Amino acid sequence: MQLANRVNTFGRHMQAKYGQRVHKLALNASFTCPNRDGSKGIGGCTFCNNVSFSPNAKQPPSIAQQIEAGRRVIQKRTGARRYLAYFQAYTNTYADIAYLKGLYDAALAEPDVIGLSVGTRPDCVPDPVLDLLAAYQQQGFEVWLELGLQSANDATLARVNRGHGWAEYQDAILRARVRGLQVCTHLIVGLPGEVAWDSVTSFERVRELGAASTATQGLKLHPLHIVKGTQLARQWKQGLYEGVPFDAYVEAAVAILQRSPPALVHHRLTGTADPRILLSPGWCAKKWAVLNAIAQGLARPVATSSMGRRWSSGLIATA
Ligand code: SF4
Repeated sequence: MQLANRVNTFGRHMQAKYGQRVHKLALNASFTCPNRDGSKGIGGCTFCNNVSFSPNAKQPPSIAQQIEAGRRVIQKRTGARRYLAYFQAYTNTYADIAYLKGLYDAALAEPDVIGLSVGTRPDCVPDPVLDLLAAYQQQGFEVWLELGLQSANDATLARVNRGHGWAEYQDAILRARVRGLQVCTHLIVGLPGEVAWDSVTSFERVRELGAASTATQGLKLHPLHIVKGTQLARQWKQGLYEGVPFDAYVEAAVAILQRSPPALVHHRLTGTADPRILLSPGWCAKKWAVLNAIAQGLARPVATSSMGRRWSSGLIATA
C-alpha cells in the first residue's frame, strides 16, 4: 500500500512543486545548544545524547564536503538530483547572524541545492534570523524552518528539561509566518509522563493555533528514542520509563494523519536513531514495518483500538 497515495508526504509535495525528486541532505555544522551551555539551561533535554558536545568530539567536514558525500549516497539510493541543505544537528540558528549567513550561503552555492531546511528550538529564532531566512525565500529558494516543539504540554516539556514552553513556540511560529516562512513542527510520541494519545492533543493544539496563514505548514513525527548517554537512558534502566509500544505509536500517527488538513506537508512519519546508541524501542529501526502499519491503519475505519490512549510512559511521579 502506497502511503504517498493517502498522505501529503514531503516527497510527494516536492515532486508536485518541482517536477522531480528533491531530497533533504543532512548536515552537521558543529552547532551547540542554548539548553546545554547555560544560556537557557544546563544538561539539555533528558533524551538528548551529548556525545557531540564533548570537547573531544571530531570536527565534521566542511559544508561543501558534506554535501558532496551526501549527494553521492542519495543519488545512488533515490536518483534525486536536487537537494535541500538540511541543517539538522542541534540548534542551527544558535550563532551570530554573519556566521549563520556564511554557512547557509556555502550550502546554497552548490548548484544542485535549491534551498534550506533549518532545524532549531522555538526560543532561538530572533527576528534577524527569520529575516535572513525570509530573504532566501524571496530570492526563490525553498526554505523550511523546522521548529522542535515535541509536545504542546508545558508540564511534559518541563519534565524532559526542554527549557522552553508552548508560549515560545506560539511566538516563534507567528513571527515566522508573518514573514511568509514555511514552518515544519516536530512532535515526539512517547515522552515521559504522556500517553501516546497526548501527541494527538499536541497536534490539535498546533493545528488550531490559527488560520492557514499562521499555523504550521509541515509536521515531523517520531517515537521517542532512548539512546545511550542520556538521562532518559538511566531512567529507563531503572525501570522508571518504558519506551512507546509499536501499536500505540501507530495508532497516534494514524489519528494525527486523519486530523491533518490536506495541504499539511508530512516531512516524516517515523524515525530511528543510530543503531550504535539506540537502546529502545527496537521496532523503530524497522521503518517500513512502521510505515506499512500506518498505511493499513489509514485504510481502516476511524477509531481502531484504544492502545494509544491506554499506554503511559511513566515518570509522572518523578517530574
Ligand atoms: S534535543 Fe535539541 S534542544 Fe534539546 S538539548 Fe539536545 S540539541 Fe538542545
